[in-house]
Amino acid sequence: CKTYGGSGFIFKSREVNAAQDVSLALQHGRTLGIVGESGSGKSTVARCIMRLIDPTSGQIMVGDEDIAQMHQRDLKARRRKIQIVFQDPMRSLNPRREIGESIIEGPLNFGVPRAKAVERARELLELVGLPASAVDRFPHQFSGGQRQRIAIARALAVDPDILVADEAVSALDVSVQAQVLDLLAELQKRLGLGILFITHDLGVAAQICDEVMVMQHGRVVEYGPAGRVLGDPREEYTKALISAAP
Ligand code: ATP
Ligand code: MG
Repeated sequence: CKTYGGSGFIFKSREVNAAQDVSLALQHGRTLGIVGESGSGKSTVARCIMRLIDPTSGQIMVGDEDIAQMHQRDLKARRRKIQIVFQDPMRSLNPRREIGESIIEGPLNFGVPRAKAVERARELLELVGLPASAVDRFPHQFSGGQRQRIAIARALAVDPDILVADEAVSALDVSVQAQVLDLLAELQKRLGLGILFITHDLGVAAQICDEVMVMQHGRVVEYGPAGRVLGDPREEYTKALISAAP
């Protein structure tokens, strides 16, 4: 559970129960989608899982360890197992640094020797469909879709088990979107990644997800195999969401 606000010292802000009783399980090699309207709590769930914010209550099990209340100091090593890609790739890339430098930042933090990290960065760029020589270039020299690939390469540089994609293809046009979705599916097959795929686009969710969780006002409305939830929804809310989709 995550409640925003309510604890201000000077003024008491309105409490927002952004995520309540959300329970999900992510497995290796599987893609779980979270869909729902704007403000339904999707990113809150992602931010809790990443421990970018502290959940108000509940457990976040990574392997057999609960990281929900773990101190930031102890989170460092666990954090590498879960990486996030945002809608705006520039949230993970430094505009003033060469792409290679952004990619090796995580590995260097975890003690990988520089030469080895750079070599791996070059391989990762090729893995996401860019030339290895891109390590020496800057983010502004690439298109939005290419920058998203670079952000994915950066996330993969620390060998995560789980990739959280929070509206990671939403800003891309349809053909580039399809390329990035194909890339994610390919990476999943190769690396056995578990992907938590957050989107407001039901069509995209239907394409890439094995399972789908539907959220409304911070609560889970429906959760099950993607084909069943999106093809034969049980809940009125899911039906309404599907019929409202373009
Ligand atoms: P979108 O599709 O627009 O990205 P979302 O499903 O990701 O929406 P969240 O960002 O998780 O939604 O927000 C859920 C609720 O929590 C909303 O009511 C939002 O206004 C509120 N909220 C989000 N972040 C904060 C914050 N830092 N402080 C207070 N309230 C917040
Ligand atoms: Mg969001």
